[in-house]
Amino acid sequence: MAKRRKYSEDYLNIGFTTVLANNAVEKPECVLCDVVLSVESIKPSKLKRHLETKHLEHAEKDLEFFKRHELRLKRQKLNASGSFQQQSAAAVEASYEVALENAKPKKPHMIGETLIKPCMLKMVKLALGEDSAKKMQ
Ligand SMILES: [Zn+2]
Repeated sequence: MAKRRKYSEDYLNIGFTTVLANNAVEKPECVLCDVVLSVESIKPSKLKRHLETKHLEHAEKDLEFFKRHELRLKRQKLNASGSFQQQSAAAVEASYEVALENAKPKKPHMIGETLIKPCMLKMVKLALGEDSAKKMQ
């Protein structure tokens, strides 16, 4: 396995944050135009070249400027069908798995009614909201 390059906070100075790709590899993402570059591009020289060729007008901005844009980018992802919704779907799936497990013949029915169900409903309510908890019920 190739050694992973580690993203440094310093890269935000030149307009880049990182996103986690499918295979859990961190890739550089431009906080100004949302473009995701290849893993190989996690080098100050390459990132800086992006900033200077695509966003020359922002090349001299300070860290605070880029931090604001990073925040905007993260907020955007929360709103879109990003990781938040994926987590919610995973929570629902986990709840079903527990229910399924409890439905197996040897397990006493009481545990499901008195322990697992209330816990599951609480989890769903916290993760997904009141409507989903009602649905789950
Ligand atoms: Zn850019």
